[in-house]
Amino acid sequence: MRLPTALLCLVALASAHAVDNGHTLRGYTSADSITETGWEQKFRALPDRDRIRENMKRLSAQPHHVGSPYDKNNAEWLLAQLKSYGLDAQIETFSALFPTPQSRILELLGPAPFTASLQEPPISVDPTSSQTSEQLPTYNAYSRDGDVTGRLVYVNYGRPEDYEVLDRAGISVKGMIVIARYGMSWRGIKPKVAAEHGAIGCILYSDPRDDGYFRGDSYPDGPMRPAEGVQRGSVMDMPIYPGDPQTPGVGAVPGVKLIPLDKVQTITKIPVLPISYADATPFLKSLGGQTVPDDWRGGLPFTYHFGPSKVEAHLALKFNWDRKPLYDVIARIPGAKYPDEWIIRGNHHDAWVNGADDPLSGTSAELEEARSLGQLLKDGWRPDRTIIYCFWDGEEPALLGSTEWAETHAEELKTHAVAYFNSDSNARGYFRAEGSHSLENFVNDVAKDITDPETGMSVWQRVRLVDIAHATPKERAEIRSRPDLRIPALGSGSDYTVFIDHLGVASVNLGYSGEDQGSGQYHSVYDDFYYYTHFADTTFDYERALAQTAGTMVMRMADADILPFQFSDLADTVHLYDTQLKALAEDMREQAKERDREIDEGVYKALYDPKKLMVPPPAEDIPPYLNFAPLDQASDDLTDAARAFDNAFAAADGKAPEGINPDLVRSERLLTDPAGLPGRPWFEHLLYAPGMYTGYGVKTIPGVREAIEQKQWTEADTQIVRVSAALEHEAELLRQAARLFPAKSAK
Ligand SMILES: [Zn+2]
Repeated sequence: MRLPTALLCLVALASAHAVDNGHTLRGYTSADSITETGWEQKFRALPDRDRIRENMKRLSAQPHHVGSPYDKNNAEWLLAQLKSYGLDAQIETFSALFPTPQSRILELLGPAPFTASLQEPPISVDPTSSQTSEQLPTYNAYSRDGDVTGRLVYVNYGRPEDYEVLDRAGISVKGMIVIARYGMSWRGIKPKVAAEHGAIGCILYSDPRDDGYFRGDSYPDGPMRPAEGVQRGSVMDMPIYPGDPQTPGVGAVPGVKLIPLDKVQTITKIPVLPISYADATPFLKSLGGQTVPDDWRGGLPFTYHFGPSKVEAHLALKFNWDRKPLYDVIARIPGAKYPDEWIIRGNHHDAWVNGADDPLSGTSAELEEARSLGQLLKDGWRPDRTIIYCFWDGEEPALLGSTEWAETHAEELKTHAVAYFNSDSNARGYFRAEGSHSLENFVNDVAKDITDPETGMSVWQRVRLVDIAHATPKERAEIRSRPDLRIPALGSGSDYTVFIDHLGVASVNLGYSGEDQGSGQYHSVYDDFYYYTHFADTTFDYERALAQTAGTMVMRMADADILPFQFSDLADTVHLYDTQLKALAEDMREQAKERDREIDEGVYKALYDPKKLMVPPPAEDIPPYLNFAPLDQASDDLTDAARAFDNAFAAADGKAPEGINPDLVRSERLLTDPAGLPGRPWFEHLLYAPGMYTGYGVKTIPGVREAIEQKQWTEADTQIVRVSAALEHEAELLRQAARLFPAKSAK
């Protein structure tokens, strides 16, 4: 589709304006900045909302999970599109273990027996909801097989702290089947913690309080989850390692040695099945015992009890443990000046069912981004660095496609990869990015150049104001005084994981969200084109904004004279983490002291209702003082080195000294250690990791933080030394790099 002439004039004016402004891009000489700004503005005029809508319609026309005919069909279509844009593209094929259901039974026994339907019925206004023969049944991937019968206990969200509440109430889940609601922690953590407490089975359900009628109208009248909607999803123990469970750390290519199934660590220890709240209701109603506390209550119209139930439930699951092909679609634009420095961009294309929102709202925009870059190439643009566009398969089960690709190409990536930019589901609302803090300033700079479709202000200005509205007084003061908005660290939950956590490639995950009502169709058959075009970003304005934002990041990183990393933000963040860790250790010491004192005083005896069974918490040893000195020192040294580097960088006016860019490419790598984190060597980054008990949620300086949380004090001291050494290496690199700049600029 051609742009109307009037719009082209506006683009030309905007371009002239930016140049007049003398706004020089960081890492660019002033001449190169003018050229780059011109190309970026041409680029941002190209993404077309109707094309993105058509991409989504095509890709979501049928269910396209891993191993399905339409998953392969989509990969081939993506390949043909990329080639038609003039890009050099290919499909890279891997294989991975991907279990699918053979049989699923969940029933309540006793005098009023009930059998769960485990079905999501078609809805007449929603055309693709009736493609029942192609739909993957409702299940949790990487649940083990099992046939168990036992009484039920309700465990709220199934987090470790929920079991402390059960302990206090004198309820054990040993030998029981637990029923947990979705939300508040990653789903894979729920069966893991249940098994650690001795449960024999786990049922997950979607409570209407969390994503159903309690929040808004149910589908198809509104966007929230209907009574029979079910959240599929993986329950693999991904905090140990993601990717193919049978090939940790290496690419799943033909001939690779497979770990036997019974030796795989990441499959659940007990069977687990997700159900709707329609199916969950009889099970929840069967629970006896004490009434639950307020914050355990869901939105269903009856009283919630802890259990155990008087009657037993029967859960029987059997899976086909097959290996399935993965089709990653990869397009390469060779760099004209620095072909060995790679900028990587990715979004997955597989879904649980039709997946219009997750992932196609991101995929469809990424494809339009690639088309727009293809157009720029025809117009004469040549990126300085190599750009790689990736459309990953198998993200939903376990980040399979991205992990196997990156493990296969690990050695090349460690040498060549500059940065990885990821997106996934996208919606209407505010710009959000999380990632490596050496890219915090870069992300802020790009966001200042993207126009928010609804307000006309920059997306940076909008999110800054929204953050001010939601901040505490202390946070507000910081937002107003700090030049860059902080970006959160990366946990897990999408394809950036292998890049940042395993390989140490600086990464950013970005997207728009916050204005649509919620994710009530998440991982159900109703996440489809009808849903998205009625209840999500119906105008596709924010899909275009995503393409504009991610594409600008890719171009600006690819063309920079000096890679625009900035380290004062990183040093500031490390200082913050150091402060938080000390506060955490101090809090735990105070809490343990207080608890022991209250036990001595008889507080629990006074508090507990003798008619209810209640158990006081056990007395605890008081945590010892940890030695944070090495971390304090490393944090200070990093701050000084970062300041020296950023000053030298600023004085260089974009003129790159010999050897500077290869040093910058190494900067994130130095924050990793090939020995990995305690108990999970695949995770090599020492600043960021998904938590062992949060799953998607990030733990920063994870070796230290998790040792403190798990009360492993000696380990905490060891890990402080380790992360401090890595930070000292980073500081040394920055001092060296600062010296590469001509002396006059290193002031
Ligand atoms: Zn996704």
